[in-house]
Amino acid sequence: MSIQIRNVSKNFGTFQALTDINLDIADGKLVALLGPSGSGKTTLLRVIAGLEAADKGSILFDGKDLTDAHVSNREVGFVFQHYALFKHMTVFENIAFGLKVRKRRDRPSPSAIKEKVNELLKLVKLDGFAGRYPAQLSGGQRQRVALARALAVQPRILLLDEPFGALDAKVRKELRRWLRKLHDEVHITSIFVTHDQEEALDVADQIVVMNQGRIEQLGTPDEVYDHPQSPFVYDFLGNVNLFRGRLNHGRFVLGSAQIEAPEHLHAVDTEAVGYVRPHHLAIEREKKSGDVIPAKVIYTHAVGPVVYIEMKILESEEFVEAEISKNEFKELGLLIGEEVYVRPKEVRVFVPEDFVI
Ligand code: ATP
Repeated sequence: MSIQIRNVSKNFGTFQALTDINLDIADGKLVALLGPSGSGKTTLLRVIAGLEAADKGSILFDGKDLTDAHVSNREVGFVFQHYALFKHMTVFENIAFGLKVRKRRDRPSPSAIKEKVNELLKLVKLDGFAGRYPAQLSGGQRQRVALARALAVQPRILLLDEPFGALDAKVRKELRRWLRKLHDEVHITSIFVTHDQEEALDVADQIVVMNQGRIEQLGTPDEVYDHPQSPFVYDFLGNVNLFRGRLNHGRFVLGSAQIEAPEHLHAVDTEAVGYVRPHHLAIEREKKSGDVIPAKVIYTHAVGPVVYIEMKILESEEFVEAEISKNEFKELGLLIGEEVYVRPKEVRVFVPEDFVI
């Protein structure tokens, strides 16, 4: 089932939680709504579900307008952060619940329910746990039961709100990989809310980056990570170094260094900020070109095969960090306090207008 969101806005009193959201989600995709706290992710999920009404705009499933349809008529399955399992019911009864409460004419026979629940228990790798109560399960197991329960009624769309938010880091990682695999098996269009960049980059087909009730960028994990369209996305998705300088006719000037910025050919002496990821910052011992910036090594530390080098730019006194391999570090033989040159291998230059949302 595909989802179309058209010009959706939502206010809570005078506070605008969503502003003119437009989004198309193709059938069978696993999509992450990613953004900081308060950016509107949950509100958008609830509007799609029909738990919250939009003030403006429409929600369509497969092109059919469901803006005014009640949540019960949208056939969506939910999984929330706090496993809302029924404590007094076994795992089997929890998963069967949605089928058992159906009207008599839509209700499967007890044997069909049993078959379905057993099939789902296998799918979520909990066969053998049917007779346990929620209190006898780990947090990760409870979330898997919650997912099986959501899938039991064969929803057309699955909505997950920070499904792994209450779990510790290791279980989170296991479960998100598991969700990816499960999604590859069942192919149900799914949207999950997260504020964890790694989680979104790791499992989603598409990431919707949200900021202050708006969509900042939509794309595949590679697109949003490698080609952020705004300073916000750059900052939010991973570490980044900021270089403050000026643009002049396609050149970004940083003290004595000049870097090509062909996308800004028409800028004349304009204030600008260059964004450079730590792994795009090369360290050189000699000045071989005009695009290098003199810096001093302040601190180095290794994490597994990667070494982080903290440096101070001599002309601006700004601090930057480079990420290089251990081999490269050994070859360079860097010492704390010595002077080197940093060369941005890839830089994205933003002008003040880019910072306004
Ligand atoms: P988080 O990651 O913290 O859950 P979020 O991105 O999911 O954040 P939302 O829960 O969608 O953000 O909230 C967006 C904004 O709308 C917040 O500032 C929040 O305080 C406000 N908001 C949400 N629900 C209501 C409500 N029922 N009444 C008033 N304000 C609300």
